[in-house]
Amino acid sequence: MPEGHTIHRLAARHAELFAGDKVLAASPQGRFAEGAALLSGTVLESTEAYGKHLLHHYAGELILHVHLGLYGKFADGDGEPPEPVGQIRLRLASDRHWLELRGPTACELLTPPEAAALRARLGPDPLRADADPDRAYARIRRSSTPLAALLLDQSVVAGTGLIFVTEALFRAGLPPTRPGRELTRTGWDALWADLVELMTLAVGTGRIDTVRPAHLPEAMGRPARVDRHGGEVYVYRRPGQPCHGCATPIARGTITARNLYWCPTCQT
Ligand SMILES: [Zn+2]
Repeated sequence: MPEGHTIHRLAARHAELFAGDKVLAASPQGRFAEGAALLSGTVLESTEAYGKHLLHHYAGELILHVHLGLYGKFADGDGEPPEPVGQIRLRLASDRHWLELRGPTACELLTPPEAAALRARLGPDPLRADADPDRAYARIRRSSTPLAALLLDQSVVAGTGLIFVTEALFRAGLPPTRPGRELTRTGWDALWADLVELMTLAVGTGRIDTVRPAHLPEAMGRPARVDRHGGEVYVYRRPGQPCHGCATPIARGTITARNLYWCPTCQT
């Protein structure tokens, strides 16, 4: 599933393509036909990302909410939209650009109170200027749930997925199974600041890189990582491989049905 940086990049991209323009909307697949009919011919005023949720704000208080889930994908381009191929839930087009959405978990219109309710059930998003990390810590410090599970819970922190969570915990030297209530205030402040830094970097580059300069391939004389997600990481999907910090094989376990990765030596 895409992590928050991808949704923030999409929000910026969609604003660049359409903000200020009247758009034609359609649902070639038919599953969003009613919503598309309401949107069609209105002006996209702004876009917003909140965690893994994308919002388009249209004139007349129309709000489009998209959650990509595991399979959702956007495509876009210049000029005329191509002939519809496959299951296109939503297609937008202006005089200059087009955009297609396939396979989302959510594609719906929200009223302003419904959008406010969505924001209210999400924890702070490290990529948003209005994020209040105290809200997340208030949940974490009272909880016996493992840190990794808390940080993956979108009602505690929004936008963080398995890569950011496992990597930030490695960088903090914290075991993913440590109960939330054992995290000190100072520990939380450092962890939050690191999430802000890592996620902001990823918005800029479009990939997740978490490795410090001393552990980069060229610094260590090791081959670069080859992985579908691209970036240089410490523990994510590296089970059995040597830790870049101490050479201990990276461990793998599961938590709330998700894979977890950590270094048994660096994270104690
Ligand atoms: Zn290590």
